[in-house]
Amino acid sequence: MTDPTASGRALPGPLPAAALPARIEAVFLDVGGVFILPNHQEMMAALAAAGFIIERGRLDEAHYRGIAAWDVAGTGPDVPGDMTGDRWAEYTRAYLRAAGVADADLPAAIVASEVAFRSPTLWSRRIEDSVAALPAVVATGLPVVIVSNADGRVEELLRETGICQVGPGPLPSVAAVVDSTVVGIEKPHPGIFGIALEAVGVEPGQAVHVGDSDRADVAGARAAGVHPVHFDPFGLCPTGDHAHVGVRYDQPMNYELFMGAALAEARAAVAAGERPHGAAAVLGQALIASGHDEVVEKDDPTAHAVVVTLREAASRLGTRSLSGMTIFATVEPCAMCIGAMLEADCDALVYAMANPVAGAAGSVVQLANHPALPRRLDIISGILRADAADLVEGAEVR
Ligand SMILES: [Zn+2]
Ligand SMILES: [Zn+2]
Repeated sequence: MTDPTASGRALPGPLPAAALPARIEAVFLDVGGVFILPNHQEMMAALAAAGFIIERGRLDEAHYRGIAAWDVAGTGPDVPGDMTGDRWAEYTRAYLRAAGVADADLPAAIVASEVAFRSPTLWSRRIEDSVAALPAVVATGLPVVIVSNADGRVEELLRETGICQVGPGPLPSVAAVVDSTVVGIEKPHPGIFGIALEAVGVEPGQAVHVGDSDRADVAGARAAGVHPVHFDPFGLCPTGDHAHVGVRYDQPMNYELFMGAALAEARAAVAAGERPHGAAAVLGQALIASGHDEVVEKDDPTAHAVVVTLREAASRLGTRSLSGMTIFATVEPCAMCIGAMLEADCDALVYAMANPVAGAAGSVVQLANHPALPRRLDIISGILRADAADLVEGAEVR
């Protein structure tokens, strides 16, 4: 693995310390922009009919540019039915501009694009990285609820595009689909998140909502007390006051996001009178499990954050091998924890601060890359080091 700051695009912003709850009990997911996009064929055909030849490669980013414009357009009250009119006109303008239409041609291109935007089959381009990541989210055992501003048919659309279904079946199973037209409330109204929370019996502070709109998803979730995660694969969002993720396997992992989850665990450990050590297990781009030291609580000298997290991840996935897993730890793990990671077949370790007393990833001994051992771990260090160090110093002072 390479230095995350040296490759790929810059992360949109640092993850704020309290961005994620210590315990996530439910995951809410948006649909448009997260699982599906306008399909290229219909959009290109509609524009070609008016003489506009569009580059296919620009159309995915065009959606996120459109949503970013939609986010800041209009000043009307946030009530059902207010998501038409000038806001969508701004979406379309930004979308077409990003697709390469010159400003002078915008009026004609907007008219031409209406054929595509009105088509019931336009939203059918699957975001394959998100679709591929969903089974891992479902495998965590956390209830997943779809929360979408849609036309009343989003549950059907998700089934037809092979993304998920409510209840048992051949596709990844979600607990509920909340479609704004069906329930009569649209994001960003907090009421729509209230319906999702009620569907799974979870408190707002224990739920995370992932969506592509700063206004509908981030602000809406926050108004409902749900933790927002902004799905922003092109790094367009200028604000750093909320968490960001772009689920694309070809892009670098969002190290700050997942270290934030481990730090939240470390804070919970401090509150429980344990050492300030937290950990998180990540597969692909999905948070599978997290945990913190439970040595005092369980009277178990082996209940270190990493061991607790490995056990939880294996149990949630129903497997003994954690091959492909990246473990995030706030403090460089000890020999026992590195040994457990090697035995579990983990791929990589990301830690925030070194441990000069017991660190087994190079500080005291190098167990993670020992030439005589059959397994090795890729190591990245220093992600959110200052936050982890603050916790350790705070714990020493107390
Ligand atoms: Zn954002
Ligand atoms: Zn340990």
